[in-house]
Amino acid sequence: MSTEHALRTQGLSKLYRRTWALRDCTLALPTRRVVALVGPNGAGKTTLLRLIVGLIAPTDGTVQVFGQSPTTNTPQALSRIGFLAQDHPIYPRFTVADLLHFGRSCNLRFDQDLAERRLSHLDIPLHRKAGTLSGGQRAQVALALALAKRPDLLILDEPLSSLDPVARREFLQTLMVAVADDGITVLLSSHIVTELERVCDHLVVLNHGRVTLSGDIDMLLATHRLLVGPRATANLDHTPSVIEATHADRHTTLLVRDEGAPAAPGWQPHPVSLEDLVLAYLRRPDHRITAPARDVSEAPR
Ligand code: ATP
Repeated sequence: MSTEHALRTQGLSKLYRRTWALRDCTLALPTRRVVALVGPNGAGKTTLLRLIVGLIAPTDGTVQVFGQSPTTNTPQALSRIGFLAQDHPIYPRFTVADLLHFGRSCNLRFDQDLAERRLSHLDIPLHRKAGTLSGGQRAQVALALALAKRPDLLILDEPLSSLDPVARREFLQTLMVAVADDGITVLLSSHIVTELERVCDHLVVLNHGRVTLSGDIDMLLATHRLLVGPRATANLDHTPSVIEATHADRHTTLLVRDEGAPAAPGWQPHPVSLEDLVLAYLRRPDHRITAPARDVSEAPR
């Protein structure tokens, strides 16, 4: 059994009638990381997460969680995964204590003390009905239940979308403490890139069902940069190292993959932020996602 990667997918694809929700997705996510899965609406994030937890079967390709397939080796794989679906669905008529009881009866490894400690720290009373809690409190209860399962891989689908900025911070803080204390791997999908920078150390960008960028965030930031120079007249669309070109009256700004060469004369290099990097990959036109790499030597490096 592989302990090197929490998750491996190979050529993973999902077709819904005539829509490819996910195409040829090959990923290897290391353990003990917080991984951000970022992409616009309809990019295929939920589809990928549902494939990983075995809720749907792939049309093509494979997925393995700690070396086990969630579809063919379901109990072994699923015992190590915690999954928090979009909108944190929990039964509104159950009290928090009922939910803990329910969690304990469904999961052999359920750590009730851990869940109670987290909820007491957040001042969420066990006797309250889930339906009377605020959105942020419900999200915290859902997270406490998912963490109490003691998963090795915790998967969260858009956990931040319904939370206000304070609740978002608290939620991410809880997550970071859990990762630091228990060494789990977290994969969370989100649209909110700015919030993720402090929390995540690995990034996967999905666009139109395809992975367009994947890697450790420090490495990705170190291997991309902005170049500002005189307005370029050449069409840089097919220059593989140029991810995005934006033009003003007199200047052109290029976001480039940095291949270690010094910038061409007249071009000033600047570091790139995570948000700029993600947005540039998301704005890439469709034909560039699948275009074969071509080297164009006259392009500024
Ligand atoms: P969002 O950020 O809006 O939640 P997403 O990145 O999670 O989007 P998915 O929900 O995975 O994207 O959807 C990917 C594509 O697959 C979309 O085109 C969507 O319409 C389609 N799709 C998803 N589920 C189904 C389904 N059950 N039947 C048919 N098409 C589907």
